[in-house]
Amino acid sequence: MSGSTARLQAISAVTNYKPLSPPLNFAETPTHELFGSNVFSIATMERCLPKHVFKAVKKTIEKGAKLDPTVADVVASAIKSWAIDKGATHYAHVFYPLTGLTAEKHDSFLSPDGNGGAIAEFSGKALIQGEPDASSFPSGGIRATFEARGYTAWDVSSPAYILENPNGTTLCIPTAFVSWTGEALDKKTPVLRSMQALNEQAQRILKLFGHTDGAMVASTAGPEQEYFLIDRNFFFARPDLLNAGRTLFGAKPPKGQEFEDHYFGAIPERVLAFMLETERELFKLGVPIKTRHNEVAPAQYEIAPVFENANVATDHQQLIMLVLKRVAEKYGMACLLHEKPFAGINGSGKHVNWSLGSASQGNLLDPGDTPHGNAQFLVFCGAVIRAVHKHSALLRAVVAHAGNDHRLGANEAPPAIISIFLGDQLTDVFEQIKAGGAKSSMAKGTLTVGVDILPPLPKDAGDRNRTSPFAFTGNRFEFRAVGSNQSIAGPLVAMNTIIAESLDYCATELENATKGDPSKLNAAVQTLLKDIIEKHGAVIFNGDGYSEAWHQEAEKRGLPNLKTTVDALPSLVGEEVLAMFEKYKVLSKREMQSRLDIYLEQYCKAVNVEAQLAIEIAKTMIFPAAIRYQSELAKTCADLKVVGYTFDTNTLDKVTELVKNLQDSVAALEATMAHHGAKDLLGEAKHFCKEVVPAMLTVRKYADELEGIVADDLWPLPTYQEMLFIK
Ligand code: ADP
Ligand code: MG
Repeated sequence: MSGSTARLQAISAVTNYKPLSPPLNFAETPTHELFGSNVFSIATMERCLPKHVFKAVKKTIEKGAKLDPTVADVVASAIKSWAIDKGATHYAHVFYPLTGLTAEKHDSFLSPDGNGGAIAEFSGKALIQGEPDASSFPSGGIRATFEARGYTAWDVSSPAYILENPNGTTLCIPTAFVSWTGEALDKKTPVLRSMQALNEQAQRILKLFGHTDGAMVASTAGPEQEYFLIDRNFFFARPDLLNAGRTLFGAKPPKGQEFEDHYFGAIPERVLAFMLETERELFKLGVPIKTRHNEVAPAQYEIAPVFENANVATDHQQLIMLVLKRVAEKYGMACLLHEKPFAGINGSGKHVNWSLGSASQGNLLDPGDTPHGNAQFLVFCGAVIRAVHKHSALLRAVVAHAGNDHRLGANEAPPAIISIFLGDQLTDVFEQIKAGGAKSSMAKGTLTVGVDILPPLPKDAGDRNRTSPFAFTGNRFEFRAVGSNQSIAGPLVAMNTIIAESLDYCATELENATKGDPSKLNAAVQTLLKDIIEKHGAVIFNGDGYSEAWHQEAEKRGLPNLKTTVDALPSLVGEEVLAMFEKYKVLSKREMQSRLDIYLEQYCKAVNVEAQLAIEIAKTMIFPAAIRYQSELAKTCADLKVVGYTFDTNTLDKVTELVKNLQDSVAALEATMAHHGAKDLLGEAKHFCKEVVPAMLTVRKYADELEGIVADDLWPLPTYQEMLFIK
């Protein structure tokens, strides 16, 4: 009788791991020289382009002005020479379809020269516009396959870059992806549109406060990415991880994360080597990586860049995910970006830090030391409070997908209820405003450590709160419900647009109240903020978001609690939401409807794949292991009986019972999968959510119980213990 050898081989491969390539020569090129070396940055442009062309491009980047097509040829020729110098043979329009992934279409620079040779060519047209066959990307009914035209358009505000491969390099051009009717087929286009909307409305507020220099107000984003790293040998021995990104089976290990010994602990050597190379690759691409550390769960880590303008941050975030995965392979590991790869162990999120600011005004959400006197800050902050309260269902919808359902509300990530953590200082200021006017700000104070040689430390005005989905963290808001695997584009589009709408409202109120008389501004601000805090203060909650008491309290306050993807997604097409997106020209009704359809479809597909996998693994791996053990036990019992022993058959009885339960639950899961009765996508998604997912969980329950009984040498799947602790 033999069990699976895959596990033993995997363990032996991990323990005998030798680096695949020699160590990096990190001393050769200092980081500051490496940074951005593969980016066609503003500085590179200035060097390579004629002055007037450079000026035109820069104006487009900084002011959002239209790019003059006549300059495109000149820019293209300069980019081409730069890229060829760096070994590029091909160029690729990079775009971000609604699957949330990154797509690239590669073309060679080479064209026949008519004499049997070839010349390197790259025209302005090829730079500005591409035409990938778009029919295989989801369009949610916007485009039928027979009208497959989709265009990629150069996004001037995000720089071109070189992607390296040991066998050659490729010039990558970030683009927006639209149908031939001009409708957005991607995640990028609405980000750009929403930034435009936010800028327009923020300018009106700034004007009221006397700032009329017109410097573009951009939304900024700094996403903190959590991820798991496990050895690739384990990864490949788990069909569920390989195909669904998460383990569909696996008993909780005896030691989990309860000792809290992993968080911020020393980083294992192989992992640190991986991090150093990942960061080096990202530096070359101009991604400003800043932080790295262990996360709460065993084998979990985090990487975070310095914030950038939302559109660039979105592209860079996609690059971060790509590079994490690629470099992990090089170090013999698999990087897991799924929101919940291991049940019972903390999942991974992506905290999207969001603010807005301009070159002349700096960060508009910086309260300074005395926020009560900073009326401009308070208006921006008030606008956020109003926006999040009005559109909490939308914010929930943009983080809704199959993976995140396992994480939100599981007492490790914020609950599905969207609320704001403001902290003591700002809550106090808004309380004062409600009571008639803010006169003071709670002091930040200092922290005395009680050791003479240590200096007193400046203390923040409020403590942190990890349980809030939308927290003010000193000079920005942090949207913590975002899933680790998702593009940050959707959450950013939502934040930009709802806050643009709120700023529009605030600007109109203040304009009407002051009628151009600045001396009336202070009183008008007080009236506006008092009104906002009275109507929308219900969204502020500084307490423990994980507690049962909050769920009850939130219900009393009328805050939506949309627990699953199918509960949340329909909010994308709520009447008010549609009107808002249309009003600020971010997404049309048709574009929104198509998005809803695509996301519902993706949900169904994800659960469908998981269910198929669960059935396959249960039948072909777990069931055979269980009956082998059952037969071994039965044989032992028979032998003992022959020699006249009396004994109990507890283990055999239990295994027999579990095998039966496993078979029955698999049959039940198969029955739910046979269902095709739903008349629309939402109905289909509901079926997957309410019938298929629970049926899958039942199969898992029996399989995991078997894992605790069946002889270890027969068990076919790498265990949680092995995957999480053998590094
Ligand atoms: P923490 O884990 O304490 O929240 P990190 O340092 O891991 O902090 O991450 C904070 C993130 O917030 C970084 O990506 C940082 O760039 C980002 N951030 C800071 N200021 C802003 C801002 N004004 N706008 C957007 N993001 C910001
Ligand atoms: Mg954070």
